[in-house]
Amino acid sequence: TTAEWQAADARHFLHPFTDFKDLAKKGSRIIKKAENIYLWDSEGHKILDAMSGLWCVNMGYGQQPLIDAAAQQMKELPFYNAFFQTSTTPAIELAEVLAEVAPPHFQHVFFTSSGSEGNDTVVRMVRRYWDVLGQPNRQVIIGRINGYHGSTMAGASLGGMSGMHAQGGLPIPDITHIDQPHWYELGGSQSRDEFGITAARWLEDKILAVGPDRVAAFIGEPVQGAGGVIVPPATYWPEIQRICDKYGILLVSDEVICGFGRTGNWFGCETMGSKPDLMTFAKGVTSGYIPLGGVMVGERIAKVLIEQGGEFNHGFTYSGHPTACAVALANIRLMREQDVVRKVREELGPHLAQRFAELAKHPLVGEVQTCGMMGAVQLVKDKATRKAFDSALEVGMVCRTHCFNNGLIMRAVGDRMIVAPPLVMTVAQIDEMADLIQKVLDLTLAELNQ
Ligand code: PLP
Repeated sequence: TTAEWQAADARHFLHPFTDFKDLAKKGSRIIKKAENIYLWDSEGHKILDAMSGLWCVNMGYGQQPLIDAAAQQMKELPFYNAFFQTSTTPAIELAEVLAEVAPPHFQHVFFTSSGSEGNDTVVRMVRRYWDVLGQPNRQVIIGRINGYHGSTMAGASLGGMSGMHAQGGLPIPDITHIDQPHWYELGGSQSRDEFGITAARWLEDKILAVGPDRVAAFIGEPVQGAGGVIVPPATYWPEIQRICDKYGILLVSDEVICGFGRTGNWFGCETMGSKPDLMTFAKGVTSGYIPLGGVMVGERIAKVLIEQGGEFNHGFTYSGHPTACAVALANIRLMREQDVVRKVREELGPHLAQRFAELAKHPLVGEVQTCGMMGAVQLVKDKATRKAFDSALEVGMVCRTHCFNNGLIMRAVGDRMIVAPPLVMTVAQIDEMADLIQKVLDLTLAELNQ
């Protein structure tokens, strides 16, 4: 029974990002099966998954080509490593295909099993690059407050989540942060475009404060995901690029969420107008069917590491795991066959934007933001003054509970409700999701007015 599953769950399973005691008290929702964009829990409730699992099931659930690819590869060669001059054909083929879909200056990839491992790899690769070039002082990597780059020591340090830094002595040395390009909270009376320049210049201020000859790289998500789908002003990333170029600093785009079509291009940096030196990816590369991540390495770094770097003493047992690579190949093939990236850019993204613009009229909603197939709805006490609710009210959690009770999975980041639904949604399914959001906003408002 559900109660038995919940009891065993609480007894043995320490869940990520979870208050263990709280979980034992409330019990988890047990998800049993899924198809297309819908989940079913152990009580038989049907739920629209507006978060694509955890920003990853981009092609939706039940995709037979991905299932077949895993089964066939497992039969033929479930595992072999890529250490000591061995390789496997799925890993080689995937590296080739990634070089095709990435911006043309990316012709090399280093495989990992997750986004966190990808960002750890970035830290080592960036520092190695400057070492090889005889500039070992360039150690400092600049990230952003409220950015998320994973849960390993380096990933969590690059990220700027205060709750994570408070546990375990983070950040590790030589990682520092600037504030996020969150216009609604920090923009004051500036236009979005003016604020984009202001926020980018915080990077220049930081570089000058640290000392330009000590700064190795800047890392950011094209659109901050876990931070609350913070879509930066259009002026932000081009100005960041200009500043990185001016000081010769490496630019790293964390594409773990934004990669693989989410923003309407293969990679988010293409949507935002930057040309990074490194891109980390994970999640959508396999639509989350199997763990796989990696780092796309641009020509500037690849050339130095290959020609002058010698052995790079870094790697994982599962770097280039053949079964994971076979699933990624099937996933990318399917994305291409179904023209998913163009559809997000030209059809689905614009429809989501239109439906979210309607939600902006709701009395609870201060602003909405969308980018491709991701969106945010900021709940506020007063639309005119942008005054937030008293945090003790936990309005985001109130809204999330109504989502849960009404067959919708949305995420609450404080009082910001966010979605990143599967990229295979139809226009009618976007309408179904937007209607449900309208309904949960009404229910939340009614509860607050009680
Ligand atoms: N980077 C970003 C932008 C993410 O959103 C995440 C996970 O949500 C990560 C990195 C970490 O990826 P993983 O959980 O696969 O380690």
